[in-house]
Amino acid sequence: MTIRVWDYLPEYHSERDEVLAAVSKVFESGQLVLGPSVAGFEREFAAYHEVAHCTGVDNGTNAVKLALQALGVGPGDEVITVSNTAAPTVVAIDGTGAKPVFVDVREEDFLMDTTQLAAAITPRTRALVPVHLYGQCVDMTPLLALAAEHGLAVLEDCAQAHGALHHGRLAGSMGDAAAFSFYPTKVLGAYGDGGAVLTGDEQTDRNLRRLRYYGMEERYFVEQTPGHNSRLDEVQAEILRGKLRRMDSYIKGRREIAQRYSEELGDLAEPGGLVLPSVSPGNEHVYYVYVVRHPRRDEIIERLRAYDISLNISYPWPVHTMTGFEHLGYPQGALPVTEKLAGEVFSLPMYPSLPPDRQETVIRALREVLAGL
Ligand SMILES: *Cc1c(COP(=O)(O)O)cnc(C)c1O
Repeated sequence: MTIRVWDYLPEYHSERDEVLAAVSKVFESGQLVLGPSVAGFEREFAAYHEVAHCTGVDNGTNAVKLALQALGVGPGDEVITVSNTAAPTVVAIDGTGAKPVFVDVREEDFLMDTTQLAAAITPRTRALVPVHLYGQCVDMTPLLALAAEHGLAVLEDCAQAHGALHHGRLAGSMGDAAAFSFYPTKVLGAYGDGGAVLTGDEQTDRNLRRLRYYGMEERYFVEQTPGHNSRLDEVQAEILRGKLRRMDSYIKGRREIAQRYSEELGDLAEPGGLVLPSVSPGNEHVYYVYVVRHPRRDEIIERLRAYDISLNISYPWPVHTMTGFEHLGYPQGALPVTEKLAGEVFSLPMYPSLPPDRQETVIRALREVLAGL
């Protein structure tokens, strides 16, 4: 049987009764849209983060987009982020009408190089979007200082960092707002699409609640444009409530697998060869993905197919090199670290219910492939 980089079925099989009970609870409730399950999840997700407000939305992309709009971002503004991210971060910024502006990342942890921010700020800059990529946080201290100095909004993209800690603070509790995705693969994953925005600011939260509900606060009366229909689904919210209670144990499971990979592959790591993930100072990583690097990445992935192991690349193309973003005007070579990483990174299978014998198979196969290169 193929070992895939991600699979939800082992988890479903062990949690099926609870998942199906959640579905049944909603179906029996008589309230299928914006009912008690969404409200309950919002309360519990906010409480987990010790942040005042949470608004559930339909997916992570719209979490980023609506959060930016709630913070006042729109056409004519510039928003600084990274090209080394899941494309939806940038799709969402672009969707507000603002212009995405990129800084490069640090080779050692793949995260935003905050020393490049000052030079990227212009009079049009309105917001910064740090992406806590792969499961650990961007260096927030200099970023927050710069944002305060220039009066910029900070939106954390937490789609890959549920439960990650940065100098003891949870991802999502540091910026003006934070966007989460509950796409099934994520550290907290639904059985379909879902998303949420956290904010400590009451007005921002109020804007968000209108934005996800056609721009209405009261039924049938639009107060704010552009509005959207971007509600978190009641069924997904009820499933997420149960999974939120288990989130810390999911993270523990991910860390144990990461530790095993790092221990049992550590002797193969060498500069210019296999590079294992590193955790930057102050960070507690949640390993949304376990990303390694090798200059001969494509060959390695190809050879692992013979072992029935199917790996993934997060991400094969930097966003600024995609044809859909040509209009942003970044030539090849504009972000050298981002471009180099895109040619070398690949992800090993990672999900908390990945059986130990499969972890073993992956480790052994990778050792054999590397020895035979
Ligand atoms: C998954 C992801 C998103 C988008 O979330 P969806 O729920 O798939 O829309 C945004 N940003 C990052 C960094 C992601 O990983």
